[in-house]
Amino acid sequence: MVKKEQLYEGKAKKVFATDDPEVVIVDYKDDATAFNGEKKGTITGKGAINNQMTNHLMRKLEEAGVPTHFVEELSERETAVKKVSIVPLEVIIRNLSAGSFSKRYGVEEGIVFGQPTIEFSYKDDALGDPLINDYHAVALGLATWDEIERIKKYAFAVNDFLKETLLACGITLVDFKLEFGKLSDGTIVLADEISPDTCRFWDVKTGEKLDKDRFRRDLGNVEGAYQEMARRLLGK
Ligand code: UDP
Repeated sequence: MVKKEQLYEGKAKKVFATDDPEVVIVDYKDDATAFNGEKKGTITGKGAINNQMTNHLMRKLEEAGVPTHFVEELSERETAVKKVSIVPLEVIIRNLSAGSFSKRYGVEEGIVFGQPTIEFSYKDDALGDPLINDYHAVALGLATWDEIERIKKYAFAVNDFLKETLLACGITLVDFKLEFGKLSDGTIVLADEISPDTCRFWDVKTGEKLDKDRFRRDLGNVEGAYQEMARRLLGK
């Protein structure tokens, strides 16, 4: 695989073209942002951890029947993935109350839901990624009903798999954000990442936060939390 020109630089990753028009290379950075880019920082080692954790989970998800963009891990920080056009919806699953859910509805964090919830945000930085419902997403032409049904089915399947996998590592999966993409033939696949940047992980016994909330909320030992998640999930 030949790495060619940079196509895009996002907040946490760079994307490069390759000699294969259907494949791009994602390069994970240590840069961290929060609150729609207002807060900026560096989390040393984050790029390598997020890359390897995402790849580990995507391989397992493929086995569990969820199609993903994963092709091949190239280095500590670089992975070849199928080129997709991203469906501009952030798909959020919650098992316990936290973050914007708690703020919006005025409830404490840590309420265990009887069943997981799903919601969508419209991926648009200028608008601040507003909450959107499925009718509005279809009205705006962001996705079709068929695509939304498929995305919901995959997102709940990811939750079932992740919840169980993390529980075996002593972690409560509180909530997480997924992004889906479309291949050139229209197939919907799981894209982006699954990492402490995009999930809330709480230690089952102590409730300690082992995710990006340590950065967002200035809780300290941010690097340590990412390393602890790598240790528990990847054994390193
Ligand atoms: N999340 C994310 N990117 C975003 C917004 C949220 O990865 O732009 C993740 C976040 O890490 C958490 C889940 O989605 O695991 C739910 O986040 P929430 O809506 O509570 O927003 P927050 O409190 O992070 O602003």
